[in-house]
Amino acid sequence: MINALWSAMRRNKILPSFYFDRNYDAYIPTRDDRNESRVDLNDKAVCFTDGSRINSTVQAGAGIYNQTDCEEYYYPLGCRCSVFQAEIYAILQCAWLHSLNCRNNASVAICSKVSSALVADTVWALTELSVHNSVRLVWTPGYCGILGNEVADGLSRQASAIKYIGLEPVLGVTSLTVRNELQHWACRELWKQWREATRFRQAKQLLRQANLSYTKYALRLCRTVLRILIGLLTGHADLNRHSLPLCQEDEETVLHLLGECSALVVKRANILGSPYLCYEELGKMHWCALLRLAKGSQRF
Ligand SMILES: [Zn+2]
Repeated sequence: MINALWSAMRRNKILPSFYFDRNYDAYIPTRDDRNESRVDLNDKAVCFTDGSRINSTVQAGAGIYNQTDCEEYYYPLGCRCSVFQAEIYAILQCAWLHSLNCRNNASVAICSKVSSALVADTVWALTELSVHNSVRLVWTPGYCGILGNEVADGLSRQASAIKYIGLEPVLGVTSLTVRNELQHWACRELWKQWREATRFRQAKQLLRQANLSYTKYALRLCRTVLRILIGLLTGHADLNRHSLPLCQEDEETVLHLLGECSALVVKRANILGSPYLCYEELGKMHWCALLRLAKGSQRF
């Protein structure tokens, strides 16, 4: 229920705007300059900005390092902020810095890892800063070997480690975030229904947890192989019962063939890594391996 509310949260979807008369420069150093750390930063004021997000806690943060005035700032941005949003927010806050806005006729370099389009608020803040100063937005990716970059990176990580106090989302959620959250929610709900269902005894032995990469693998299979895979997973397989029985020890079911049949011990050890497997172990096997063993049994 909580996740269903994602779609109702404040969004940061903005209509594209084009600014043809911006009064600041955007400077992208050449690859050679970056590799040899020759990025020219001889401006009167040099600032570094960065945004980051910790995957385990999904908390994001922005950091600013004003190298000229030795100022450090960091802003926790909560759990519903992307790295890109944090990067842009860092540039916005940097353009609003009092220490930069109180300057006149100074050259100012704001270094960022963002090389793509900015959002309108940030463009306006940079435009205002450029009224009395000569401003450059310099693209400095993380591997440039520039010390200021590392300091800003450390500040943004420090911000990401701090819990945001206040209402979230801080900056509005992106369309991509909403889509991903809805996908995860739908997956969790489907899986809950699957666990609570009282039927599908055999299929439940092999399908013990939702796995998106397995699903993608299955959707890439041709129709014939996909039919065999579904038969393996559900137990409703069309086994070739006209062939001679393999071991004559037990009824030839899918689970017997995959995990227990003594006639397939060598093939099973080669393909699945063990001569005998219980249902639980079979459930952990990649479907590709199950298909290979099924093909090796010559029953499909
Ligand atoms: Zn057998």
